[in-house]
Amino acid sequence: DAIANQIAAGEVVQRPASAVKELMENSIDAGARNVRLIIKDAGKTLLQVIDDGNGMTETDARMSLERHATSKIRRAEDLFTLHTMGFRGEALASIAAVAQMEMKTRMGDQELGTLLVVEGSEVKRQEPAACEKGTSICVKNLFFNIPARRNFLKSNAVEMRHIIDEFQRLALAHPEIGFTLQQSDELVYDLAAAKIGQRIVNLFGKTYQSQLATCQEETDQLKVSGYVGKPDFARKTRGEQFLFVNRRFIRSNYLHHAVMGAFEGLLPEGSFPFYVLFIEIDPRHIDVNVHPTKTEIKFVDERAVYAVVRAAVRQAIGSHNL
Ligand code: ADP
Ligand code: MG
Repeated sequence: DAIANQIAAGEVVQRPASAVKELMENSIDAGARNVRLIIKDAGKTLLQVIDDGNGMTETDARMSLERHATSKIRRAEDLFTLHTMGFRGEALASIAAVAQMEMKTRMGDQELGTLLVVEGSEVKRQEPAACEKGTSICVKNLFFNIPARRNFLKSNAVEMRHIIDEFQRLALAHPEIGFTLQQSDELVYDLAAAKIGQRIVNLFGKTYQSQLATCQEETDQLKVSGYVGKPDFARKTRGEQFLFVNRRFIRSNYLHHAVMGAFEGLLPEGSFPFYVLFIEIDPRHIDVNVHPTKTEIKFVDERAVYAVVRAAVRQAIGSHNL
């Protein structure tokens, strides 16, 4: 079973950033108002997520480490209908299979919480412990028991970049939640709960403040909202383009093209606009033939989505007296 766990774990946890994503999504699912991420050595020796969410009972904490014990869906089509990010019930089990994990958790109405120490799926300690309301999960020495995997990790700079990407996506999708990111002794981000426009500024810098145009477009099928950078604020590199569907980050060359089309003739050659766009759509209009762990999705009527995204961006940059 430990071996099966290790193999399955490799699909969920490819690198420190995947563990970060899963843990932070769990915190968001748990109703956290504040989520703290602590990273050492680009997550290779330590990554920790601390939240003030609902916490778990001792039984639930123990159960949370069992594969599929908590699976919420059976079908891919449930994915975008769920109000929680989690659905497979295997992230914690997977991380616990390939790392040394320490979990502390307490529900609001409990006096004492629970401490769990797990190493390669083996529970080493389980006992009552004094702790804050919420959950803290500390993951040490990821892939300590799979040397091939550990050696396969990229440089700290590359792994840290992946972590920051995941952090930024979740921080943008949930501006109503406070987030911090501490890297070794440095507080890299300290994001108070805010409106999305302010969250963008807090994440990317004050220079963005005056460079954003509001997007807002709605049909009976879908709604597009968010911000695009003004054409003068074009970026030299890709990477500051964020698209969310029902609050999940997705990649879509097709919709990126829709945004680029709206900017046609307004951008310097070889540059890209900044954008943070949110699509809200009835999950029934999302193609069910989608792999749950992938960031690509298909829409039933992708032309309609394309048209609304393009119109929203055109309207936004048009309304800023260019
Ligand atoms: P999933 O999120 O797909 O259900 P996970 O393995 O990520 O699967 O988590 C298993 C379960 O553990 C969750 O369904 C949740 O009940 C519980 N859990 C995990 N993290 C937290 C947390 N930070 N706060 C409260 N409960 C949590
Ligand atoms: Mg989860």
